[in-house]
Amino acid sequence: MTDVPIFDSDAWRLTDQERQLTTQARELGETRFADRASRYDREAKFPIENYRDFHDAGLLGICIPSKYGGHGANLRAYALTAAEVGRYCGSTALTWNMHVCSCLWSGAVADDLEMDRVVRERHHETRSVHYRRILDDGAIYSQPFSEGGSAAAGTVAFSTTAVRCDGGWVIRGKKIFASLSGSADYYGTLCTELQHADDKPSRSNTLYLAVPAKAEGVRVVGDWDPLGMRATVSRTLLFEEVFVPDGSELLPPGVYFQAASRWPHMFMTLTPAYMGLAQAAYDFTVKYLRGELPGAPPVKRRMYPTKQLAVADMRIMLEQTKAIWFQAMSEAGPNPTKEQVLRAYAAQHSVMENANEIAQLAIRTCGGQSMLKSLALERIYRDSRCGSLMLPWTAEICLDRIGREALYESGENDDA
Ligand SMILES: Cc1cc2nc3c(=O)[nH]c(=O)nc-3n(C[C@H](O)[C@H](O)[C@H](O)COP(=O)(O)OP(=O)(O)OC[C@H]3O[C@@H](n4cnc5c(N)ncnc54)[C@H](O)[C@@H]3O)c2cc1C
Repeated sequence: MTDVPIFDSDAWRLTDQERQLTTQARELGETRFADRASRYDREAKFPIENYRDFHDAGLLGICIPSKYGGHGANLRAYALTAAEVGRYCGSTALTWNMHVCSCLWSGAVADDLEMDRVVRERHHETRSVHYRRILDDGAIYSQPFSEGGSAAAGTVAFSTTAVRCDGGWVIRGKKIFASLSGSADYYGTLCTELQHADDKPSRSNTLYLAVPAKAEGVRVVGDWDPLGMRATVSRTLLFEEVFVPDGSELLPPGVYFQAASRWPHMFMTLTPAYMGLAQAAYDFTVKYLRGELPGAPPVKRRMYPTKQLAVADMRIMLEQTKAIWFQAMSEAGPNPTKEQVLRAYAAQHSVMENANEIAQLAIRTCGGQSMLKSLALERIYRDSRCGSLMLPWTAEICLDRIGREALYESGENDDA
């Protein structure tokens, strides 16, 4: 390995587990994922070989609690590890987030939430089935929640419904941008549970269900030819009267809603891919200007003051982004203070916007030859553009919430 860690373990006082996981991810990224990334991107194909490597390395179970045989990583440990992956393949890191959420939300997050004893025991039984599939069989979970309306932003109930029936639920609905579609073994679907088909949907009845990809009535439709994050293969999923049995829950009924209100950092899991891309754009620029980038002519361009200034700007933005992101990840947990939530939004916004800002500075500074498709930078630039679009915490929504919540305390308004 030649690349230095994004977060040096001594400087950032990482735990032993974080040091070990980030080293493992950097090694996989540098020695395997980096070389495969351009083909997956060009062909818009899911990086299945990388997932086999994750499985062999035990990383599919990174956030499975240790008592079930996983690494038991918390959000920060996972995020630091995924950032190292994103540095070499943005799509692999982004899709890994979808998979990992099925374990993090049902694991460490659920353990921080309120459930009565019976519900918790039942949750223990159901999640252990999901965890065994992942650890033993290498099962891959995805996380389709976007529907094209306001549900993914968290303001209305999901229109995909799970109607209670004998022995399980019947699911009907449609999910757009379903990353890993066609490759995941289970679609970790957010839907609204209804006791009867004509009940009024409510956000408090959101249910997180693992729908087998092979279940009757599951269809993947539409094409996938986007600007960036092409290897996520985020096509449209249709659920046409899909029966899923009891035991398919990733969280007990009502617990997702509690998690979204009491554990808001759970939505920062999309950021590590972009933290890695920000570092990758910076690394590329330094190597390129030093004439040391593999695949580029060994021409040094570092002696021009404008280039030095641009690298300084990039470094400052990278350090600022790392600092706020690390702090927000370190604060993740139940019932954060208002200050911590505002910082989480600011960190999300910073990573998602700055990754692309650093990548565009990298292209301007390195010049025309750097944006050829034979080099990684133009992919980094395209991939990084997608970060601020990710619901529920898009860059715009972060701005809206920071502005409003900084100026209004809960319950305040401007009525006379
Ligand atoms: C590469 C990629 C992979 C993805 N993978 C997944 C996945 O695996 N699972 C998944 O569920 N989704 C996934 N998404 C979807 C993503 O999370 C968003 O749902 C999607 O980008 C929204 O697109 P839209 O055009 O429907 O946005 P719209 O809903 O039309 O919103 C457009 C913009 O308006 C703003 N906006 C929207 N709603 C509100 C609101 N209520 N209040 C204030 N502002 C609002 C936001 O800034 C948003 O960016 C992926 C997206 C991309 C680009």
